[in-house]
Amino acid sequence: DLAKHFPVERGIVFSRVIGSVRAVDGVSFDLAEGETLSLVGESGCGKSTTARLVLRLLEPTAGTIRFAGEDITRLRGAALAPVRRAMQPVFQDPYASLNPRMTVGRIIAEPMEVHGLGDAAERRARVEELLRLVGLAPYHAERFPHEFSGGQRQRIGIARALAVNPRLVVCDEPVSALDVSIQAQVVNLLKDLQQRLGLSYLFIAHDLAVVRHVSDRIAVMYLGEIVETAAKTALYARPRHPYTRALLAAIPVPDPRRRRREAALGGDVPSPINPPPGCRFATRCAHAMPRCREERPTLRPIGEGHLVACHRADELAVPDIPSLAPHP
Ligand code: SF4
Ligand code: MG
Repeated sequence: DLAKHFPVERGIVFSRVIGSVRAVDGVSFDLAEGETLSLVGESGCGKSTTARLVLRLLEPTAGTIRFAGEDITRLRGAALAPVRRAMQPVFQDPYASLNPRMTVGRIIAEPMEVHGLGDAAERRARVEELLRLVGLAPYHAERFPHEFSGGQRQRIGIARALAVNPRLVVCDEPVSALDVSIQAQVVNLLKDLQQRLGLSYLFIAHDLAVVRHVSDRIAVMYLGEIVETAAKTALYARPRHPYTRALLAAIPVPDPRRRRREAALGGDVPSPINPPPGCRFATRCAHAMPRCREERPTLRPIGEGHLVACHRADELAVPDIPSLAPHP
């Protein structure tokens, strides 16, 4: 039941709080060991804020985070250090997230220094091992980030995340800034590393195309809430929330003769400042009825491990989704 509300102020000299941005508003999910859960939604839906809450980079307004059975929500200082080590982030922009003045070797070694792991020689050996692990030659340790392509930089970012042997890697749109031709390589690398190292992934993405290959389960977020959660196969074959369907309809279909049943998604995500009481998707939903604007739908089971927050999920026909090509 995680929440993060940011106060919104107006006025320069005498500012006053006029409301709050409900960036994350009562989100619940679990992630099993070795599993990949993807959080998917348009920009502004709260998925990155959720990731930062899980990583304990932000303080939640409400709710609880448990990691390996322990309530970590209020851990601080030295008590938080082992948790920080066990959860490592991979960021969206491999250009902005690597310090341009540091060699690749120092960038990758930094988390080991922060956590006091090994001496200088051990860290150097570990950097070379990590570079090989992500498919880069060990001599790259002497170079600087600007000498690498976007895909190579993201490999460096992944090596840095793995330096301290994390159990959970939080990947916040790790391939969104990369060329489509490179995205699959990085996704495949992440899959491969997960199998070899037994990692768990919380994977953030803004569309359902990228996460198709990498996910075990998917949670779709809209305006600070999870509106649907299901195993990957169920979510792609039998999406039940109108928003999930619209996101799926937005994925390019390999065969252009196959018509889309569901209209593509129009408009933008409304402002998360003081959202209206009913269903937050009602302003964009083709199936909205009066009840939707008054009563907030809550997540409820609709199939095995499948939850949906929509008043009309039972009556709306399960769509015939054309089979999608595997991610390139
Ligand atoms: Fe659409 Fe109503 Fe379902 Fe919301 S609750 S998604 S407005 S049908
Ligand atoms: Mg984001």
